[in-house]
Amino acid sequence: MSPRTITMTEPLHRYLLEASLAEAPLLTRLRAETEALGDAARMQISPEQGQFMALLVRLIGARRILEIGTFTGYSALAMASALPADGRLVACDRSAEWTAIGQRYWAEAGVADRIDLALGDALETLDGLAAAGTAPFDLAFIDADKGNYQAYFERCLALVRPGGLILADNVLWGGRVADPAEDGEDTRAIRAFNAAVKADTRVDASLVPIGDGLMLARKR
Ligand code: CA
Repeated sequence: MSPRTITMTEPLHRYLLEASLAEAPLLTRLRAETEALGDAARMQISPEQGQFMALLVRLIGARRILEIGTFTGYSALAMASALPADGRLVACDRSAEWTAIGQRYWAEAGVADRIDLALGDALETLDGLAAAGTAPFDLAFIDADKGNYQAYFERCLALVRPGGLILADNVLWGGRVADPAEDGEDTRAIRAFNAAVKADTRVDASLVPIGDGLMLARKR
């Protein structure tokens, strides 16, 4: 790691959480329930990342959010809670089973009426939104199958307003992106995605080393 970026040791990460994490009790409970699922829980974003994304929602005054890859609903809950009461979040996922967990928490948090769950193939959902002439989104969060990141990004660029923000998760991919010995399909897909965003003159971007790496791309 570059000496200009601090190495996040376990004790330092614990300090970071103690010093700045203000996680709502419902989010804490949802995180615990998801962690009990075992291996799949790795798909859940970290709590400090959820807090950061909720801050981004507030910073840009987002009213409409598009989420691709909802899993058990932590990121949707974190972002929807930061929306105004009449805000909307469209949550795309394939799994009725996982999103059902999120739906319980969205209801308990009183934000269920802000979240439209779109079950099925996300590319089809996004194409359907575009075809229906949906109102532009202020923010999109991509956190689904890595092989389709560029396809999702392209559709998000069409669906997000100028000045809107596209976030993409896992862009440091557990460090594998920087390991020349790693050439798995997902690793290559993420390297290609990061390179494409860097070269894309339609956005201003920054790769933020929070969680597993979060790409921020603002549509020009
Ligand atoms: Ca993720």
